[in-house]
Amino acid sequence: MTQLPLIAKPYFYQIRPLNPQAHLFEVACTVERPDPSGQCFRLPTWVPGSYLVREFARHFVSLKAEGSDGPIPIAKHSKDTWRAAPCAGPLTVVAQVYAFDLSVRTSYLDEQRGYFNGASVFLCPEGCADLPCEVVIAGPEGAAFGSWRVATTLPAVDTSAAGFGRYRGDDYDALIDHPVEMSDFASVDFEAGGVPHRVALSGRHDADLPRLAADLTRVCQWHVDLFDGPGGRAPFDRYLFQITAVGDGYGGLEHRSSTSLLCRRDELPVPGVADITDDYLTLLGLASHEYFHSWNVKRIKPAAFVPYDLAREGYTRLLWAFEGITSYYDDLALVRSGLIAPARYLELLGRTMTTVLRGPGRLRQSIAESSFDAWIKYYRQDENTPNAVVSYYAKGSLVALALDLLLRRAGRSLDDVMRALWKRHGLTEIGVPEDGVERVASEIAGRDLADFFARYVHGTEDPPLAEWLADFGVAYSLRAGQGATDRGGKPASGTMPQSSLNARIGADMKVVTVYSGGAAERAGLAPGDQVVALDGLKASTETLRVLLERHAPGYRIELHAFRRDELMRHTVELAAPPLDTCYLTLEGDMDAARAVRRQAWLSG
Ligand code: ZN
Repeated sequence: MTQLPLIAKPYFYQIRPLNPQAHLFEVACTVERPDPSGQCFRLPTWVPGSYLVREFARHFVSLKAEGSDGPIPIAKHSKDTWRAAPCAGPLTVVAQVYAFDLSVRTSYLDEQRGYFNGASVFLCPEGCADLPCEVVIAGPEGAAFGSWRVATTLPAVDTSAAGFGRYRGDDYDALIDHPVEMSDFASVDFEAGGVPHRVALSGRHDADLPRLAADLTRVCQWHVDLFDGPGGRAPFDRYLFQITAVGDGYGGLEHRSSTSLLCRRDELPVPGVADITDDYLTLLGLASHEYFHSWNVKRIKPAAFVPYDLAREGYTRLLWAFEGITSYYDDLALVRSGLIAPARYLELLGRTMTTVLRGPGRLRQSIAESSFDAWIKYYRQDENTPNAVVSYYAKGSLVALALDLLLRRAGRSLDDVMRALWKRHGLTEIGVPEDGVERVASEIAGRDLADFFARYVHGTEDPPLAEWLADFGVAYSLRAGQGATDRGGKPASGTMPQSSLNARIGADMKVVTVYSGGAAERAGLAPGDQVVALDGLKASTETLRVLLERHAPGYRIELHAFRRDELMRHTVELAAPPLDTCYLTLEGDMDAARAVRRQAWLSG
């Protein structure tokens, strides 16, 4: 890249879409006074919020260095580091980066839009991470891109009306915590927590943006008030929801004053539809989740992330608190802000309980262990994950619920814990030690909660939610599942199965999961097996449904399946269907104490 602007910073960047058709960004990093013994550059291997080593350097397709007198030799020293030969400054390294990952974690470029997370494109010059820097963001060349604009919360220094130009990073960590969207996105603005908020929506859609803004206003204000009191002020100057709508996709990543969301087009509110559909509720829950992270993990952080070491895994047993508590509050905010009724909230909670109950892995791994091993287990799921791994999101949210109910019965709440964590660790930027959540919760409870944490956080016991919810006028019921599409949360409808294979089989009759110790496992079925016949009839979800409805436990079916290209014959002795599907109902008749508790919990 030539004609670098004069920027009085020790290091600075330029990024531009080099070739949208080839999905290439060109990224330059200039160091004014390079290390006389040879300047090193490092690229992060992971992005905060997504706990998997992603090796972003594998998308660097070329890299060269130039000093004031011409080209400088530069060589790789490890998978994610480069060292330039000693030279006089300024030294500029120019890379071409392949960007075609349609997720919220890396970068993407085609003729419709460009998007990048700084961690996947900006090399960090060694010795500069704590210093301020600048970046010049340019748009692609050509009239076809004339309508492109920039959406980011990077602080602008000098930009065009479309938002291209110079931005500031207070340090490297800040630089990479404001992802950048560039496209002809739609947008809508609103205010919450006393600061401006914007939604920048890319992808094809027909969304009711004013409706989305109105609903998000309530959710965002509710979160701000939780931490800062009624009419509270947000802990940032402005906030940006970068949303990309696609045919099929889901994901969100939190940042200090923005979030990137990937949603299905059908999840956006449609003009003229007043109801909150299940699809739209999914999007509101996701937005609520990422917004809550503005406090819980972006500012209240585990000590293990202060500072982040992006060269290697960051180990903590606390992800359940940062993801589980956030998952508890994401849907809770929807009912407590009045967007949905309590019965609708209990349906969502019943689904989460169902998800957790259906995973035998919760009996083998604690949520503290799942947090620690997120890098190699939760983030690297395979066919055995349900048997071996517990989700620190889903079970973590139920442990958060249990803690909230426990505290509420003693006249306090998880809200008090979050406010105390905010004061002690958020405002002060002091990381939360590994026992910090337990300590603060015990202080709020006014007694030692070691037993609670030993059983449900560090142990694999299920919290006694049926019993504790009864104190809040909520009845907990279990039933058998009714096939692959039954996610729980509601009472049964229609005929029930009498028996079960104890396996999850996809619509294509391929075995997805064989549950530990169940009928399918005993019969020798394995994940990936292609079931072709059941009791001599061609296999389909319908033949399986009828079979399980007609036959009692103990009945033996003959099952034919291909394992790879070999036909296998299995005799499966059907088992009793597990009661792993949960639904919650509001009790009509209850005493005044329960009514008051339920009101305080679900209405705030
Ligand atoms: Zn999260």
